[in-house]
Amino acid sequence: MALAEGAGDLRITLSLARGPPPRLLQAELRRVDGSGVLLAVGAGDRVTASALATDLNTQIKVVRGEMDANSFYSSAVAAGVTDSLISDFANAFTFDFDFQREIRPGDIFEAAFERHVNGAGEAVGAERLVYASLQTQAKSKALYRFLPTGEKVATWFDGNGSSIVRSLMRTPVEGARISSSFGPRMHPVLGYTRVHKGTDFATPVGAKVYASGDGVIDFVGVHGGHGNYISITHTKTLQTAYAHLSAYGPGIAVGAPVRQGQEIALSGNTGLSSGPHLHYEVIVGGAQVDPMAYETESGRRLQGMTLAAFQKERDRIDVLRAAQNG
Ligand SMILES: [Zn+2]
Repeated sequence: MALAEGAGDLRITLSLARGPPPRLLQAELRRVDGSGVLLAVGAGDRVTASALATDLNTQIKVVRGEMDANSFYSSAVAAGVTDSLISDFANAFTFDFDFQREIRPGDIFEAAFERHVNGAGEAVGAERLVYASLQTQAKSKALYRFLPTGEKVATWFDGNGSSIVRSLMRTPVEGARISSSFGPRMHPVLGYTRVHKGTDFATPVGAKVYASGDGVIDFVGVHGGHGNYISITHTKTLQTAYAHLSAYGPGIAVGAPVRQGQEIALSGNTGLSSGPHLHYEVIVGGAQVDPMAYETESGRRLQGMTLAAFQKERDRIDVLRAAQNG
């Protein structure tokens, strides 16, 4: 019955009997989540109080769209995905898709957001992305957000309960803003075709660049035509490198450890570069390999009780999605 503690905003609804003079029949005091107290004035002006339970309902909003010719970001906005959730949505796919080469106009995506709605029909708290799917001509992925027991951060799993996390990300840059259109593989500055030793992602200057795997920074600075450049050592034989950067992240220095997905820099247009993009290399035993062809170690698969809990959550989301699809 204590209302003082963390009450936040209280809405007070008074019910009065017509006068004159008007007489108070009851007062309802509710927090935004519907919980609170009901004060009723009875015979002889005796006031009785009773607790009101929360009246929150979980709702799922499903949004479907098609990739346009611009970017994941503009496609998601057009489909009605809440602006603040678009990066979250795109990031779910950065392990499995190369956003520059594998996603084309016409590819289909779906996102499901969970939100809590109170008895008055108002949304309470932030929306949460719980499901994300992407279907290209070559492959499709449907992902569910899940927090395994005893862990602190919810991550994405496919329908079989396999984690999306790989030893390296396929798209180590803010995927939502990568341009879908791309040009021929002619070196744009030198003007002739030469062996291209990495992967280019067309991004506006200032897109977040992520460490594609856990490792230690082994180079930060200007590196010839690469402009501002960062290289990371992941294992004795595996490195990744990031070129044409516009800025380095805080604490990024030779010898600094980095975590997979950590923001290490902002993309740019420095060095021998004809337009803003991230040039990304995967280097095995000192030689660049095709990042697309490099086989990454796949993530763990949930087991036993945790798998059962995941399946329950997956089914809950699927039922809510189906209900919405009608
Ligand atoms: Zn390049």
